[in-house]
Amino acid sequence: MNAIQIGGLVSFTTIDYPGKLACVLFLVGCPIHCAYCSNPHLIPVGAGEYDPEKVFDWLKSRVGKLEAVVFSGGEALMQGQSVIEYMRRVRELGFSIGLHTNGFYPENLAAASPFIDWVGIDYKATQTNYELGWYRLQGNPDKL
Ligand code: SF4
Repeated sequence: MNAIQIGGLVSFTTIDYPGKLACVLFLVGCPIHCAYCSNPHLIPVGAGEYDPEKVFDWLKSRVGKLEAVVFSGGEALMQGQSVIEYMRRVRELGFSIGLHTNGFYPENLAAASPFIDWVGIDYKATQTNYELGWYRLQGNPDKL
């Protein structure tokens, strides 16, 4: 299994998980291109800037200080089983797990659901761009 690719980290937030003090991990990669994306640098799939194991060690140091860890992006679930396994490990530390997702990978969302406590669906593409992203993923971007 590949290590997850983390492209950004916010160490403290009061607004990304309802009612809980949290940090946010921003994962790289996203299949769609929303017009108002706030993190366009995270869209290309590539190496993450952060070592996932060092981030995990840092999360251990936040036990008792933070209440939740939010997985955002990019589209976190694009990284499939790697991110689901990382969520499982983080949840075992006692954190609530939040997910910001564009809903593009319902099978991955279903697989991750035992380890997720709160989900926010968020995308800013037009319906056409959302569908284009889907066809791009299938290797058929001319379908639209
Ligand atoms: S789904 Fe999110 S990360 Fe992906 S392009 Fe849209 S706003 Fe950006």
